[in-house]
Amino acid sequence: MRILPKDIDAQDFYQSKFEFYRRFSFWAVIFAAVGTLSYFVSDCQLFGGRFAWETLPARLTPLIPMTAFILLSKKTKNYKIMGYATYFVIHCCIWCTMWSVYYLPDKTHFSEGSIVLQLAFFAVNFAFPWTMAVPMHTLQIVTILLTHPLIHYPNIDLLLSLNIPCWAAICLAHFVMQNLYVKHYQTTKKLQYISMFDALTGAHSRNITKDLLKPDSTEFKEKYRQPLCVAMFDIDLFKQVNDQYGHAKGDIVLKDFANIVLESKTDTDVFIRWGGEEFILLMPNTELGAAVATVESIRRKVQRFDQGVCPITVSAGVAKYDGKDYKLVIDSADKALYTAKNNGRNQVVAYQK
Ligand code: GH3
Ligand code: MG
Ligand code: MG
Repeated sequence: MRILPKDIDAQDFYQSKFEFYRRFSFWAVIFAAVGTLSYFVSDCQLFGGRFAWETLPARLTPLIPMTAFILLSKKTKNYKIMGYATYFVIHCCIWCTMWSVYYLPDKTHFSEGSIVLQLAFFAVNFAFPWTMAVPMHTLQIVTILLTHPLIHYPNIDLLLSLNIPCWAAICLAHFVMQNLYVKHYQTTKKLQYISMFDALTGAHSRNITKDLLKPDSTEFKEKYRQPLCVAMFDIDLFKQVNDQYGHAKGDIVLKDFANIVLESKTDTDVFIRWGGEEFILLMPNTELGAAVATVESIRRKVQRFDQGVCPITVSAGVAKYDGKDYKLVIDSADKALYTAKNNGRNQVVAYQK
């Protein structure tokens, strides 16, 4: 049985599912631990209304892993780590409930308690892979069986006949829920792709810009650190291509040009369609001299390319980022491009202050 469709990257899918349900699952863990403590009241009632000091340590213990869980959740958002931490707290609640039951004068009520604990699994399973949720939940049934010789549940048959259908229904429900989330995930990914990539050329769309900047800032992120150079390309006399061969052929020219750049750039370079037939290439960790050489080699490849609609050339301006507002470096590259156009096109110009 295939759990996920073939085209889905499982790690990315599960991380996305976790982030979607993270808060819900977080509060379910807190409610489970605090809920376990609240059953101290029923322990007192079972002891005929006296303070049930015997079960107090067991009822308080889940607060320790719960505190560790809260601290961990501030440090990481990794679904695997948080998954095991979540199930650990839930199982602690189960173990501590059994520890309390051991002392209770009437153990028959554990049937109801165990069903309440199933609710905790129902709530947290949303955030985690079905393949993690099922074994973790199954462990609850296994724990009941393993602790029976020690605790001697008076109604083990009833306990199992109540718990097993509940366990099966929750596992099945989460299989269905995971499949529903697949549809949501696929739609989100499609929308992300549409907003981040230009459909015609395969270059990034301008929307990517905010992802390159520090949060609430106009400066590039550290990973696009200095020396960072920016090139602005503009196809020469492109209007004439459209006028002579038509808009559809003009589109093919744009695609061919973008392919040349995409094949020439490094993995860390970011290629953006800035608008119309103007493109930007961000070259992190590249000095001005090396950036000009890269752009010059692209210009030559474009000039030599002869399988397209018609021969074309491209002009480019290159500028070095000074660590301030990103718009300044783009402006400088644009100024250098303007010089290249004025000097007769089909050339690369480095920005001079
Ligand atoms: P220059 O060398 O000075 O840059 O001359 P140019 O003709 O390239 O400059 P201009 O900016 O006047 O022309 C750009 C043209 O690009 C005009 C517009 O119709 C065309 N264009 C913009 N976007 C697209 C597109 O997606 N497809 C096609 N086919 N044409 C486009
Ligand atoms: Mg233009
Ligand atoms: Mg042009």
